Amino acid sequence: MKRILVTGGAGFIGSHLCKKLADEGNDVICLDNFFTGSKDNIWNLMDYKNFELIRHDVTEKLYVEVDQIYNLACPASPVHYQYNPIKTAKTSVWGAMNMLGLAKRVNAKILQASTSEVYGDPEVHPQPEVYRGCVNPIGIRSCYDEGKRMAETLFFDYHRQHNIDIKVIRIFNTYGPNMNPNDGRVVSNFIVQALKGEDITVYGDGSQTRSFCYVDDLVDGMCRMMDSRDGFTGPVNLGNPGEFTMLELAKKVIDLTGSSSRIVHRPLPLDDPTQRKPIIDLAKKELSWEPFVMLEDGLKRTIGYFEQVLRKETA
Ligand code: NAD
Ligand code: UDP
Ligand code: UDP
Repeated sequence: MKRILVTGGAGFIGSHLCKKLADEGNDVICLDNFFTGSKDNIWNLMDYKNFELIRHDVTEKLYVEVDQIYNLACPASPVHYQYNPIKTAKTSVWGAMNMLGLAKRVNAKILQASTSEVYGDPEVHPQPEVYRGCVNPIGIRSCYDEGKRMAETLFFDYHRQHNIDIKVIRIFNTYGPNMNPNDGRVVSNFIVQALKGEDITVYGDGSQTRSFCYVDDLVDGMCRMMDSRDGFTGPVNLGNPGEFTMLELAKKVIDLTGSSSRIVHRPLPLDDPTQRKPIIDLAKKELSWEPFVMLEDGLKRTIGYFEQVLRKETA
């Protein structure tokens, strides 16, 4: 069994990953500064003997001894990563540098949670890994997009210069239980609004598309990538190719919750990508991975989770 560090482990995806790795018997160190993460996401792990929590910021040095590092620390919702954009850039870039320095010192294998945002507002659709993207370097999303691009650059330079064993995944929109109800991303916003009977806020005309992957599928892909053959660095797209408009998503959420909420339109944020859909042939070939959970099933499970959270809030 391995000693594994998960940065951002108290966040949405990180908490599922920590649980899976701990259940498999690994020694898991969860690192988080709790900017967007929550102890609620990992309370069920606190009495595991093979789980440890460190409150720490990845922009600071870290000295631990581990075999593997999953680097997830970074706010992922536009609302949160734009709250303090300079900090977001530091988290992405300095965080990557520190984790790579750590990987170098202890000779650990390291996986970077990169993002479909490296493709920006893509002119190529759907997106293969070889597409180099269309990113605005000076816009309000740039702290995240360019931060993640720089992190990828650092990963490949540490690989070439120091022979670090790197694995880079580009995650497309992922959803599921443990998302923060105030996260600001579309799936959690729509579900919480529907359950509260509030207006569902579709930004712009709602014709922009996203492809939504259920978190269990994603985490399975992440672990397969960590365990992939020596020398396979990626980057590899991980996402569900099912593509939906935001208006379709809003209607699905209303249907599944039986909500009486109305759809209202709000201004489209600046630089909001118009379309996004992964080509996952590389993940299929190298990782024998593809997602299985259909949007409707994943939404049902996520709705169940938010019902519980809201019930607790009002209790
Ligand atoms: P999240 O916001 O729920 O989790 C991020 C975690 O990182 C939180 O627990 C937060 O407190 C922690 N964190 C933030 N800054 C930190 C810092 N400086 N030091 C230590 N911890 C810090 O988001 P998520 O959806 O779980 O995303 C996890 C990772 O996956 C992120 O790197 C994100 O960029 C990437 N990703 C997610 C998606 C998605 O759709 N969920 C898509 C693409 C990429
Ligand atoms: N680092 C860290 N933990 C370690 C080793 C390094 O946090 O166990 C940090 C280190 O402080 C530096 C960064 O990682 O800021 C990059 O390390 P590297 O050895 O590549 O660079 P250098 O220390 O030579 O600048
Ligand atoms: N969006 C929306 N209503 C909301 C939140 C988001 O219509 O309440 C839209 C947003 O403009 C974007 C899409 O949903 O086009 C996905 O947004 P999210 O913030 O979830 O992720 P990202 O833009 O990073 O893919």
